[in-house]
This record gives sequence, C-alpha cells and structure tokens, in this order.
Amino acid sequence: MGMAWSSAPIPCTYTKTFGVGVRGLENCGLSCCINALLQSFAATTELQELLNRWQPSEESHDHNVPLELKRALEAMKDNKQDRPHQDFLECLHYNKVCRLMQHDADEVFHTILNLIQKQMSDQQTATAITNLYKIEVEGCCRCSECKNEHCVPNFFLSFPLHLPERTSTLEDCMKMFFECQKLEGSEAFYCGRCEKKTPSVQGYRLVSLPSILCFNLKRVRKTSSYPKKLNLKVSFPETINLSEILPEEHPQLSQSRYRLYAVIVHVGTAMCGHYTAYIYSTDRQWYYIDDSHTSRVSWEAVQETYGGRELFSHTAYMLLYRTLNTEAA
Ligand SMILES: [Zn+2]
Repeated sequence: MGMAWSSAPIPCTYTKTFGVGVRGLENCGLSCCINALLQSFAATTELQELLNRWQPSEESHDHNVPLELKRALEAMKDNKQDRPHQDFLECLHYNKVCRLMQHDADEVFHTILNLIQKQMSDQQTATAITNLYKIEVEGCCRCSECKNEHCVPNFFLSFPLHLPERTSTLEDCMKMFFECQKLEGSEAFYCGRCEKKTPSVQGYRLVSLPSILCFNLKRVRKTSSYPKKLNLKVSFPETINLSEILPEEHPQLSQSRYRLYAVIVHVGTAMCGHYTAYIYSTDRQWYYIDDSHTSRVSWEAVQETYGGRELFSHTAYMLLYRTLNTEAA
C-alpha cells in the first residue's frame, strides 16, 4: 500500500495444517486495515464460538455484516478460496466502510462491532459478542466542597489511551487514563447540593473488565496543519495484571490477568499508512501477517512495535489481550 520500505519480500511460511498457524489475506484495494482486523477476529476463538452458535434466519438479508464475518472466518480456516474475505469486504463497502479508502483500524473495529449488534437476527448472541469486549466504567464528578458525587455509567469497546509526552509503558497510559482532573474556574460544574458552581474532581472508575481487553494507543495527534503520528516508545507486556496497576479506589476485579494475543500495527505516517498484524496463534507461536505474507516470529519481533525509532515507524496501534482466568495454562 504505497509504503516505500514495505516492498521487501517477507519469507512466507504459510502452513496448510488445519487450525495451526495463520493464513494471509490478499490486499484487495487498500484492504490492509480490514485484513489486519480480520486476523485479530480469526484469533479471537471466543468470537468465533459465538458466531458458530448463531443460526442465521432465512430472512437474513444481503449485506449482513455478522453473516459475512462468520463466513469469512470459516473460509479462512479451510484453504479452498483464494480470497476468503472478498464478500466481507464488499459487505462492509455496502455498509459505508468504503473500499479504496484508508481507514482507522480502531474506527472500523467499532463499526464492525456496532453492525453486529444492529444486524444480527439473534440479539442475545449479538449482545454476548458486544459483552466480550465491553469495558464498563463510571464517569464520576465529585464536588470538592460537599463531597457529593455524581456518576454516569459508560462503556468502551477499546480503551482509548492517550500517550504521555515521554517514553512510557502501557501501565503508565492506563494510570494516566484513570487520573482525576480538577475542574475549577470557568470549567466548574454546578453542584445540585451546594446549589452553585463549585470546584470538582472528575475521572473514570472501572466497573468491570471483559474477556477480551482491547487497547487503542492514540498515536495520532491533531495539529493546526495536519495530523501527526507520535513515535514515542510505549512498551507493553505479554501478560498483564490490571489489579496491580489500577489505583486502590477501584473495586476488586474478578478477572484482572490477561495475555496478549494480537497486535495491530500501523506502519508509516498519519497521512500515509499501512496496517499489519502480529498474532499469537493456537499453536502458541507468534506470527507476523502483512496482507498475504505470513511468517513465524519471536516475541522479540513483536516488541519491535513499541515505537521510539523515527525512521522505522512500525508501531503497535491496537493491543488485544484475553483473560487468563478461563485459560488452562
Ligand atoms: Zn457540592
């Protein structure tokens, strides 16, 4: 996709063994973003189990995103088709995720999940799919004078993490997300109990964590002239325990240990980019997938996406972790 450096051939170790390894997907007219997302969905066995349980009803219309996703993921498993994702791409195009356009992977990820919820005939399964990713939070605002607190429930399908202006870790970004902000002066809120505008403290409180935990590293910063990509280094671990990171006021979490299994990588600048993915497959190996090219790699190769190197802007953009509580290992 027009990236000068990416034309170097990558050794292809594509395996045909069923259920082991990964299979590449041809780039059909700038589809790298959707290809990378499809690889992450294919690695999300929990999602596939829910899709497999669903029996689409007869009246399921054309251009149904959950149906085409289900078909694409099934077709990716058997190697009969050259383009197992073609109908899914066409279906997304019909649903306003247009072909021949560059997309933001996190936006498309949200669009796909929202369309699943909207278009699935079985609403119970659709909700179960949303719940797989649903991070429940409360947005709270506390009056500094009377200590009265007003909380509003909210949720995220991916944690929107802004980056500090320095080399940092995923843990730092999480802590920053939950840091409270003081609202005073012109920003002060009206407190119903004090019956006036008072200084207050505002922040998010975590309510529950899902089985699949997705982080979106917000690397694009809007400047007055054009969007700029931040190449700052953000390291992330293969396993993470959130109860060790979050401030004490957060409730005890029933599931807090997670393992990384997919990294969606953005290559290039904010203006011209390409997406690839690292996948930890069921055979407990990491794979790098750049459209149709796949290769087996080490964890050290995944760590190359931490960022911080100006010339080689190959950085993690979305991180998908799965809970370890349900896994035998
Ligand atoms: Zn008050």
